[in-house]
Amino acid sequence: MLLSFFACFLFVRSQQNIIKPYQLDKAALNNALAYERVNHRLQPALTSPVVIRVFFRIVDPAGGKLFDITEAQIAQDFKHLVGAYSKDNICFINMGFDHLYNTALDTFNTSNDSYKIFLPYGLQNCITVFYIDQLGGQNGSSGGGSSGVTYGIPSAWTIIAKSYAGQGVLEHEVGHCFGLLHTFDFANGNGLENIDGSNGSTSADLIADTKADPYAFAYENASSCYSATNGGCTYNGTCKDPKGRSDYSPPYTNMMSYWCSAFYPSYIITNGQYTRVTSFLSTSSALQATESPQTAVDGPYSISSGYHMNSAVTTLTTSGTVLITGTANTSLGAGQTVFLEPGFDAVPGSGGQVFIRHSFCDTISNGYTLNGSVTTSFQNQQTSLPATQKADLFAYPNPASSSVQLSFYLNANTDNAEIKIYDMNMRQVKSIRLGVLNAGAHTIPADIHSLSAGLYFIMLQTPNALMKTKVMVVK
Ligand SMILES: [Zn+2]
Repeated sequence: MLLSFFACFLFVRSQQNIIKPYQLDKAALNNALAYERVNHRLQPALTSPVVIRVFFRIVDPAGGKLFDITEAQIAQDFKHLVGAYSKDNICFINMGFDHLYNTALDTFNTSNDSYKIFLPYGLQNCITVFYIDQLGGQNGSSGGGSSGVTYGIPSAWTIIAKSYAGQGVLEHEVGHCFGLLHTFDFANGNGLENIDGSNGSTSADLIADTKADPYAFAYENASSCYSATNGGCTYNGTCKDPKGRSDYSPPYTNMMSYWCSAFYPSYIITNGQYTRVTSFLSTSSALQATESPQTAVDGPYSISSGYHMNSAVTTLTTSGTVLITGTANTSLGAGQTVFLEPGFDAVPGSGGQVFIRHSFCDTISNGYTLNGSVTTSFQNQQTSLPATQKADLFAYPNPASSSVQLSFYLNANTDNAEIKIYDMNMRQVKSIRLGVLNAGAHTIPADIHSLSAGLYFIMLQTPNALMKTKVMVVK
């Protein structure tokens, strides 16, 4: 529930003019400030990662599509997001995407429309990113110019114009979700920051170690004060701070600034911003709902509609009967391994999907997606093999590109069976826990589409057996 809201607009530079005053959730901000004061100020990066779930909703008008966002564009935005925060061990897991047909959302105007129309469509335990076709408002007849907007502070959802997908807007907007203000924040009423930093913690973005940013003048008195070169990307003006100095050294590379990212790739967050982010991650129930526990057990359940998102920092293990059918949109993720135990059965129907995702402060997002009428069961899959092949592990096809069938024969019932795949450096790249298996022949499918080309070693381990084989992955 957002009790009040906070609006952020990242404008197309040529259309910059007016900015609507922000409305902060002052209570949430005060909570965060109190958290920082109680010995959390400028703490070092987290030693164990926070893994935050993100889900993408591609909005289109009812009954049709305008621009479409590709998975590659989402991946590009996600990669930027991960890169922006990974040095501080704030990590993300891409829980997938879907399409949402809703004209009102798709043509949102920040001046005329209520942000509340989005609230029913945000997922409760993910940061929801809405890509929409027309993000208008503020600029009158031009019909818009915003690339992204985030309401509420703290917030677990944000809006990005499709034309800006893949261009580094996401990490900026997520910064707002995490409680960060613009480095040049002036409209919020906190006043101008002194170049010497003496009032840094009480002015502009309320963070001491972000540099004073003359961009604030762009909203106040641009023609008389603000000037810039490089197409408006480098300050060379004479704007005076409250102490009369004008020798600004703007925070060009800070992602919460507005300096052109084409000139200044803007991934830097300062120690103070990091502290502010972690304070919101620690005090906001909306954000905490997006964070993964260390480990998670998923199941038992049977679902045929709605969203089911679950993830863990290290391992997620399904438990008992997990039956996913119909239009259910399911994503299971973990930083290390998702264990699909016997009893897991994903049979998504039309409109349903199952994502198995992996992420760990990097851009890995592998696993696989099951769509349509695919049936997957990791329970026993009997097949017959010639007697001479017993007690061996076979991979076919070989070479393989996207998936490989692993066949083997067990002389006795076993538990804790597990397949592990290693690369040439014996680094484990994949694990499939099979659990309890009966004696006899088995064929297990293994998804390998995320593996790059090369030779891999596959091992099947049980308490009583170790079988090995190799597979050549070609792309
Ligand atoms: Zn912004």
